[in-house]
Amino acid sequence: MLHIILFGPPGAGKGTQAEFLQREYDLVHLSTGDIFRYNIKNNTELGVKAKAFMDQGKLVPDELTIALLESEVKKNPAARGFIFDGFPRTAAQAEALDSFLHARGQEIKALLSLEVPEDELKQRLAERAKTSGRADDADPAIIQNRIQVYRNETEPVKAHYQDKGKLIGIDGVGSISDITKRLFDAVNRIK
Ligand code: AMP
Repeated sequence: MLHIILFGPPGAGKGTQAEFLQREYDLVHLSTGDIFRYNIKNNTELGVKAKAFMDQGKLVPDELTIALLESEVKKNPAARGFIFDGFPRTAAQAEALDSFLHARGQEIKALLSLEVPEDELKQRLAERAKTSGRADDADPAIIQNRIQVYRNETEPVKAHYQDKGKLIGIDGVGSISDITKRLFDAVNRIK
C-alpha cells in the first residue's frame, strides 16, 4: 500500500498534482475539499454543515472531517494506496489518520510538502477564482483567512510527520510539469 499525503497551503497546486500522481501510481485521490464541494452541490446534510465553515475560509470541524475521511477510505477496499489531498489539516486529524491506518496494518509512507511563497499563492488563487467558481477563492479577505488558518492550524501537521522521518519538502514554484517531475522523483525514492 502506498499512502501519500500531498500537503501545502491553499493554491500550492495540490489538486493539480494529485491527478498526475494518481495516474502515475494507480492510487485513489481523496480530496476532502472536493468531497465537501460535491456534498454542497447536492445539498446533503454534510454539505449544509460544511458550507458555513468553508464560505468563511474556516476549517470544517475535525469530528465531521475525520468521519468523512474514514468512510471514504472504507469505500475503496481494493485501492493500491491513497493520495490524501487537503487532509490531514490539523494535528488531531493527523493522529486520527495514523491510528485509523495503524488499526488496518497500514501507514503513511510520506508527506510531500509543496513549498510556495505567500505572494505567489495569492496570485494563483486570484487567477483560479476566474474559473473555479469557488466563493472562497473570490474574496481576498477569505484567501488571507485561509492562509492564516494554514499557518496556525495546518502547518503543525508537517512537524508531526517530520518527527517520524516522513516529511519531504518539494519546491512548488515552476512549471506544472517541473513540479510533477520533482514529485515523481520523490515518490520513486520511497516506494
Ligand atoms: P480545499 O479544496 O482543500 O482548498 O478545501 C476547501 C475548504 O474545505 C477548506 O478551506 C475547508 O473549509 C474545507 N476543508 C477541506 N479539507 C478539510 C480538512 N481536512 N479539515 C477541515 N476542513 C477542510
